[in-house]
Amino acid sequence: MSIQVFGLPVSRGVAIGRAVLVASSRVDVPHVFVDPDDLEAEVARLHAARDHVSTEFDNLKRDLPADAPAELAALLDVHQMLLQDEALIGAAGEWVRTRHYNAEWALSAQLEVLARQFDEMEDAYIRERKADLEQVVERLLRQLAQADASRVPDAQRHPRDFGGEEPLVLVASDIAPADMLSFKRSVFTGFVTDVGGKTSHTAIVARSMDIPAVVGARQASSLIRQDDYIIVDGDAGLVIVDPSPIVLEEYRFRQRQSELERGRLARLRHTPAVTLDGERVELLANIEMPDDGQAALEAGAVGVGLFRSEFLFMNRGGKLPDEEEQYEAYRRAVEVMKGMPVTIRTVDIGADKPLDGLSTSELRHESVLNPALGLRAIRWSLSEPSMFRKQLRALFRAAHHGPVKVLIPMLASQREIRQTLDNIAHVQRQLTDAGKPYGQVELGAMIEVPAAALTLPIFLQHFDFISIGTNDLIQYTLAIDRADEAVAHLYDPWHPAVLSLIRSCIEQARAAGKGVSVCGEMAGDPAFTELLLAMGLRSFSMHPTQVASVKQRVLRADTRRLLPLANVVMQAADPEQACADWLLSGGAPPASVAGPVVVNG
Ligand code: PEP
Ligand code: MG
Repeated sequence: MSIQVFGLPVSRGVAIGRAVLVASSRVDVPHVFVDPDDLEAEVARLHAARDHVSTEFDNLKRDLPADAPAELAALLDVHQMLLQDEALIGAAGEWVRTRHYNAEWALSAQLEVLARQFDEMEDAYIRERKADLEQVVERLLRQLAQADASRVPDAQRHPRDFGGEEPLVLVASDIAPADMLSFKRSVFTGFVTDVGGKTSHTAIVARSMDIPAVVGARQASSLIRQDDYIIVDGDAGLVIVDPSPIVLEEYRFRQRQSELERGRLARLRHTPAVTLDGERVELLANIEMPDDGQAALEAGAVGVGLFRSEFLFMNRGGKLPDEEEQYEAYRRAVEVMKGMPVTIRTVDIGADKPLDGLSTSELRHESVLNPALGLRAIRWSLSEPSMFRKQLRALFRAAHHGPVKVLIPMLASQREIRQTLDNIAHVQRQLTDAGKPYGQVELGAMIEVPAAALTLPIFLQHFDFISIGTNDLIQYTLAIDRADEAVAHLYDPWHPAVLSLIRSCIEQARAAGKGVSVCGEMAGDPAFTELLLAMGLRSFSMHPTQVASVKQRVLRADTRRLLPLANVVMQAADPEQACADWLLSGGAPPASVAGPVVVNG
């Protein structure tokens, strides 16, 4: 029987395929397909790993001190028994032979199957053996990694390479943002996670991959079983398990329709983003890695409005990139963009982007109670001045090769501004003294904390431009953790308090003659395009995949006619509905607006 699991839509489109369940702690095992000629060799890798681990267990047992508790030897026997059980290695070998999974993937797939069986056991003692099984698999995975450290898996290979294979959808309780990034060129055509909010960084990375994704689908990873046939509806935030033939046909039709729509939108690539009344609008791209600039160019973006540099720092086992490595990465981004401006944000580590790649659910068990309010972004950089200066030096050196703008995240106070500027002056002196060539940069502040939005004149005094980070501005204005699906329904970009801060920042920046952009998810959501234009915004930064949809709205807009829209929306009982109604009616005042229109700013 078909079941439905509801979550949050984060990345549009429809994916249909087989579920691949991966435990959160194992999302970083390689997921690649094995060439048909190499299947038996891959199964042999499994057997070799098993034999090695088996010898380890024998040795451990032999070397137990005479006075060791008897339970220890018994435990090793249990581990040996689990290891030798055909339900583990034998069945994993079948995943390799039938699905062409590599050994590590096959093992974790089979672990998920067996773990589910353990969970369903009546007997508490047997249920608890799941932890032993996980430890055995952990050892096997370690052994596979060690035995084959030099193997470079071909992560680009697509399931269809093997003819007849169905597309695969990854289902996990949680995926850390950095792990999500590693799936960028992977075999998966859709994602489902139990946790996460719409603007959590995992969701943001999924969106940048332009494949259907649903997060916050609470029970998904326990309701869906390995290899289930599922539909991921990324528009509605719905996962359908084992769909009926009629539903399947309906979704296949929708898949074809959205392909056609994408094809139509792609034709706008070379069309300049100019409104009907001749207002030029800058559509920029958000990227995570230097080579993402390629996708930005292909999408028709006219520069990078946000390079989230922290992705260079994550999942590196504590070894952070030095100045040279960063310089090469930033320079690469500049070169890829061929003379277009590249806005690079200094590291925004912390909150749901920890350095060591913990997932959101793991983070919740960390000792830090409120990571979003903790040592994050510029706070982290200022607490690690030598790291911060390395990054600044690398940025200024990259600016020697093309237009670079530097963006500082999460500033909230004058003190942080002063310390940031002091560090910048310091590295400029260092570079001059060392005779290293460097370029001038435009300096920008991210406005993503209400304190910054409410004291904007101070920021406008010190910075060349501002970029409004609506993802965090919403989180901090409404006191809603953006990564927590439990409060996702309260995370509201249409809240008048949020809209009022955004509008006031745009107006003040324009009045001061300073650049202003929005780089949060609102900028790439076509539902907000007219409203932001009405507020005076002329620079939007978004995932490359969103550029065409937003451009389509820009091309149809007339900013003179849009002028009343901001007031209408901000005073409406239901701002989202009011905005849609107003646009649909071509500007007639909706019934929900009472009294005279007051300019709010
Ligand atoms: C934002 O907060 O809106 C933003 C663009 O930064 P990030 O999503 O990386 O926090
Ligand atoms: Mg932010």
